[in-house]
Amino acid sequence: MIRKLTIGLVILALSITVTPSITVGAQSGPRVVDTSVEIDFPSLLQFNLTTESQVNIKDIRLNYTVERISYATVISEVFVQFTPHKNVTVSWIWDMKRTGGLPPGTEIKYWWLITDDNNLTYETTPTTISFDDHRYTWNKINSGEIFLYWYEGGNSFAEELLSAAQQALTWLELNTGAKLLQAVNLYIYDPGDLLGAMIYPQEWTGGVAFTRYGTIAIGISPGNLAWGKRAIAHELTHLVIHQLTFNAYDGLPTWLDEGLATNTEGELNPGYARSLNEAIKTRELLPVRSLASPFSSETNLALLSYAQSYSIVNFMIDKYGQGSILELLNTFQKGMSYDEALLEVYGFDMSELERRWLSSLEESPTFQRYQTIVIIVVSSIVGLALLLYLESLIIKRRRKR
Ligand SMILES: [Zn+2]
Repeated sequence: MIRKLTIGLVILALSITVTPSITVGAQSGPRVVDTSVEIDFPSLLQFNLTTESQVNIKDIRLNYTVERISYATVISEVFVQFTPHKNVTVSWIWDMKRTGGLPPGTEIKYWWLITDDNNLTYETTPTTISFDDHRYTWNKINSGEIFLYWYEGGNSFAEELLSAAQQALTWLELNTGAKLLQAVNLYIYDPGDLLGAMIYPQEWTGGVAFTRYGTIAIGISPGNLAWGKRAIAHELTHLVIHQLTFNAYDGLPTWLDEGLATNTEGELNPGYARSLNEAIKTRELLPVRSLASPFSSETNLALLSYAQSYSIVNFMIDKYGQGSILELLNTFQKGMSYDEALLEVYGFDMSELERRWLSSLEESPTFQRYQTIVIIVVSSIVGLALLLYLESLIIKRRRKR
């Protein structure tokens, strides 16, 4: 049974009129009296059906498909349990806790198949519903293929965020050649509400790109616009890159995925930059190969992982141009391994990429400034020691005299 509603939580009951698509037999097969769907976002979807026939109904199945990027249309079939009868009312609950949840606005197409004891089957016309988060009253604006939904803050807040999304797309196309392939829905939650919109949220989640669904859910308050613009650019990049490289094999190395996302945000965040400069100075940079796997959840290591990824991708764009990045993404789309893809496009593997990136750091102003400081400090110490030594020699000679 559908769980009891908490105060303020709205379940939307959609009454859907179903017209026959297949007529089997002369008016004697099963017939639909009523169907409806109830949405309790993000926890569940309940499909209801009342049907009747002149003889007992013996089999009821619910079929559905979910709108998302996939290799082939996957139809899920649910065998609904009930006691055979001439009049039957059934429900099937899709418990999101068991399947991991769906982002807001996901479209689901469903239809019922009802069979009676005369083996006459009735199939309802497929109906599409949207798994919307009805707990909030959403406003909507769009620009081309970017649709932005929000419920807190004025129009200018939404317009600023939409324009940040557009700028991110422009930057990506200019610097990597990657373009948005399908429409994207941006859901702007209040930061305090975001976790409540997810089934298994991570405590630190500030935003999520549901790349297969073309949806981004993000927590931005009108008072935190600057952060929000960067977060939108970041998550939108993940979405564009994943649309482009969706394949049946490996994904992308994490450093490439996160490196592109952090570069689209703009200048490296000062906290990340400090972490990177410190690791360069102390020669404690993480091996690039280790950054191909998901990053550590330890704060300092995560910070450095993002900062290094930014720096590596920045180096690749600067040194080898946007054409190569697009070629690399297209090569990953074919399902190549990390080293194979790099070798095909750049002519070197990840180890050689690391060597080249490290030597580019040594030529960087930050590193050279650091080297200059070290040289000055060391020569001052040596100079001082020499002076003290000379002075002690002079004193000794004077004493001898
Ligand atoms: Zn990211």
